[in-house]
Amino acid sequence: MNPIELIDKLEQDHILGHSDFLRLLSGNLLPDEALYLKQRAREVTDRTFGRKVRIRGLIEITNVCRNNCLYCGLRKDNRILKRYTLTDDEILGCCKTGHDMGFRTFVLQGGENPAITAEKVTNLVSAIHDRYPDSAITLSLGEWDDYSLKMFRDAGATRYLLRHETINPAHYSRLHPDEMSRDNRLRCLDTLKQLGYQTGTGIIVGSPFQTLDNIAEDLLFMRDLKPEMIGIGPFLPHSLTPFSSYRAGDLDLTLRIISILRLMFPHANIPSTTALATLHENGRCLGLLAGANVVMPNLSPPDMRNQYSLYDNKAAFGAESAEGLKALSSQLAKNNLYITTEKGDYSDV
Ligand code: SAH
Ligand code: SF4
Repeated sequence: MNPIELIDKLEQDHILGHSDFLRLLSGNLLPDEALYLKQRAREVTDRTFGRKVRIRGLIEITNVCRNNCLYCGLRKDNRILKRYTLTDDEILGCCKTGHDMGFRTFVLQGGENPAITAEKVTNLVSAIHDRYPDSAITLSLGEWDDYSLKMFRDAGATRYLLRHETINPAHYSRLHPDEMSRDNRLRCLDTLKQLGYQTGTGIIVGSPFQTLDNIAEDLLFMRDLKPEMIGIGPFLPHSLTPFSSYRAGDLDLTLRIISILRLMFPHANIPSTTALATLHENGRCLGLLAGANVVMPNLSPPDMRNQYSLYDNKAAFGAESAEGLKALSSQLAKNNLYITTEKGDYSDV
């Protein structure tokens, strides 16, 4: 089969074999084949969501983390970073600001901060759920035991983002210290699914040592998991990590993977990520035009945003921020895309 036929097959069957995925991932696609992939992905996105782009307000609740992922600026061995933890009142204040602006999803993201116990998260989720029953609460707070994940779910969280990062064990162990385990992450993802969370996973594109083979394995893993949300962004180096001198992930490859995922999962919520917007000035729109349907403007208190430094130069202001919704809207309008404030659950299509 030639690449055009492979793309048609992917759209129809939502899956390809490992070697066929490799052919779409490799840089050998001709320009019109690459364009066709993107067009099919956007066409499928239009069929599911129209030209609407769903917004989620991102609240970065703490930059304290017990873990030491080698790629991340929040890793505990980064002793230079000034750490912060928002109080419940500050977080509720962010929700209020967001709710007034029309946000109906709050994403609470943060490092694995030992001071933020399961009980605290549960109480916080309950408080947000009580005040904003019309809004969805998404958590992105790393790995927890099954019991805690159940408490959060019972308190009103309905979505959870936990990228698997890479499914290949050898690759996983080059990105993480020995005390972290890929299997624990997979256990969490399994539990999230069983608890009925809309579950998000994903990878960093172009992380050090990643091969196209690894990405093909990740795609096959995601086929089995059936995530309702998929977060894909390029690797971006952080100067105070062991990976400071590695190159950033590739824009075209990131966009191609978004398109492949859209053809695999026509209904999934796929954000055009902050990392993509940081890599390229028009990255956010390029991601949407390649098949993404979600953006996550930053709702964190502005004076804390620079401290949530997963990677260098992270975009957090202007069109990447909640207060920049107008700027974002006009960027999108140029591409005939429009913000919707609908809650936008997985099943709402
Ligand atoms: N602690 C939680 C949530 C915060 S990190 C967790 O790890 O799940 C959120 C995501 O940021 C991670 O899943 C990772 O994929 C991404 N990330 C971290 N460092 C990055 C980097 N240098 N470049 C690109 N993405 C990065
Ligand atoms: Fe902590 Fe998440 Fe960064 Fe890993 S990626 S160091 S778990 S914040």
